[in-house]
Order: sequence, then C-alpha cells, then structure tokens
Amino acid sequence: MPRPIDLHTHSSVSDGTERPTELIRSAVASGLGTVAITDHDTTEGWAEALEAAEGTGLAVVPGMEFSTRWEGKSIHMLAYLVDPENLELREETLRIRESRLTRAETIVQKLAADFDISWQDVLAQTSDGATIGRPHIADALVARGIATDRSQAFHDILHPSSGYYVPHYAPDPLKAIELIRGAGGVPVLAHPATRGVDHLISRTNLDHLVAAGLFGLELKHRENDPAAAAILAEQAKELGLVITGSSDYHGTGKPNRLGENTTEPEVLEKILSEGTGSSAYSG
Ligand code: AMP
Ligand code: FE
Ligand code: FE
Ligand code: ZN
Repeated sequence: MPRPIDLHTHSSVSDGTERPTELIRSAVASGLGTVAITDHDTTEGWAEALEAAEGTGLAVVPGMEFSTRWEGKSIHMLAYLVDPENLELREETLRIRESRLTRAETIVQKLAADFDISWQDVLAQTSDGATIGRPHIADALVARGIATDRSQAFHDILHPSSGYYVPHYAPDPLKAIELIRGAGGVPVLAHPATRGVDHLISRTNLDHLVAAGLFGLELKHRENDPAAAAILAEQAKELGLVITGSSDYHGTGKPNRLGENTTEPEVLEKILSEGTGSSAYSG
C-alpha cells in the first residue's frame, strides 16, 4: 500500500497554527507519504518545511494557495511546483499580501467600534511575515473572549454579510493561472464545489480556466458539496482534468485532519511531471 498523499495544508506562515517544522512532524506522525505545503499567497514556508523533512522519509511538494476573485466571489487556486523566484509571481503575491494587511487593519477598525479589540491583539496572533487573514482576527477575538473558536468567529462576526467584512485585492483566476504557468507551476482549482449546485462555476467559465491552462480540480475536500462535486467530476473527465483530494489542514485552526482526503499516486505523478518551476523533495 503506498502511503497517503495530502496536497493541501497550511502552516503559520499563513493561517495554519503550526510552524512548517511542526506541520512536517504532524504529517510524519499521521503516516503520510507525501504532503504539499500550500500557504496562502506565499512560498516563505518552503525552506523550513524541506529542511524539517530531511531524513523522515516524507516527500514534500512545494506549493501555494493563490487568492483570486472572479465575478465578486473569492476563488482559491492551488499552485504546485512554481519557481519561487519568478518575478511576476512574486510581485503579484506581494501585492495581495500587502492588500490583506491593510484590509485586516480596516476590519479591525470596524470591529473596534463594537468590541474591545485592537490591532495589537491581532498581531499577537500572527507570526512575523505571515500572510494575514481573517483567521488571525478570529484568534484575537477568541483570545479576548469575544468568540469561542475560529468557526464561531467566522459564523457570527467575520462572515462577508456581517457588516465588518472588507475584501482584499486579488487578481482573477485567469491571471493567476497565467502567472502560475509562467513560473513553471501546476494550477489546480481548490475546493471548487463549496457553494453547492446552485452556485457552481459555469461550464463556460470552467472552459475559460482550462483554456488558460488549468490542470485539475480539488474535488475530494470536506467543504465541497457532494452533488456539485459529482457534476464537476463528469466535466473533469470530459476536459481531461486531474482530480485531487486533500485535507486543507490548518493545525488547530480548523477541524480538518491530515490525510482525511487524499490524492491518487497516478495523479501526483502527473502533477510532478507537469511542474518545472521547482521540484518535490524526498526527505
Ligand atoms: P481570508 O483569507 O481572510 O478571506 O479568510 C479565509 C480563510 O479563513 C480561509 O483560508 C480559511 O482558512 C479560513 N476560514 C474560513 N471559514 C472558516 C471557519 N468557519 N472556521 C475556521 N477557519 C475558516
Ligand atoms: Fe486558510
Ligand atoms: Fe482555500
Ligand atoms: Zn487552503
């Protein structure tokens, strides 16, 4: 039996709760054979993760989860094996991270009108240089006793319809695919069925993503709606897209457990032969 392959995890370099080193230790302890580190809009965790994997027998696929927006909706694009030094990719992800920072400050200003919370509280929950997001604000609300956990903070306070929400800059997914491909990477649409059958990506839009260079769909993910994922599975077959499965592990920040969804070894092989910007590391 090949050991399980989990291609979507976060460390504290974005909104996970474990350092890359701890994430690798957790992956080894969970019995994974391969893990991808896919922090939001950054490749900064790669070096530490690869170093931690040395001698463990765990393979690490370097990746990133690219924030994009299309027709007013947030869409996440997994990017495997990009060249982390690629200038265009670096500039665009820096622009997103900077916008995330000012946007988080604005959200906290709005919250401070109604709750006892400050920007310092959020910084106290954020690792230096990390890609900041609402999860860090959620952690600050929990530390202040305003929310019980991240899920409740999202549900009651940080939800887009809450009135405190502010969007951040993000390119459209066509642009993201162009940047990922330009950096030798492999683009896979993250959790594309979370909004259910009624709000599923249209076939026309999916065709546009495929024409731009989309390689796969992350259909095995706990937040995907099963009926919507089944529709996309049919379309993936027709369009020649690979299907991946992963946990979207965030440490203690989410209930998602490492290896709860996995990717077939044949699919991993296809991704590894497609990506030219960087290489997987066999620890
Ligand atoms: P942001 O990047 O600031 O828009 O926040 C989105 C991030 O929040 C996602 O990447 C998830 O990791 C996290 N998130 C969204 N909903 C929840 C939830 N209900 N509980 C915990 N984390 C969540
Ligand atoms: Fe996240
Ligand atoms: Fe995501
Ligand atoms: Zn994710």
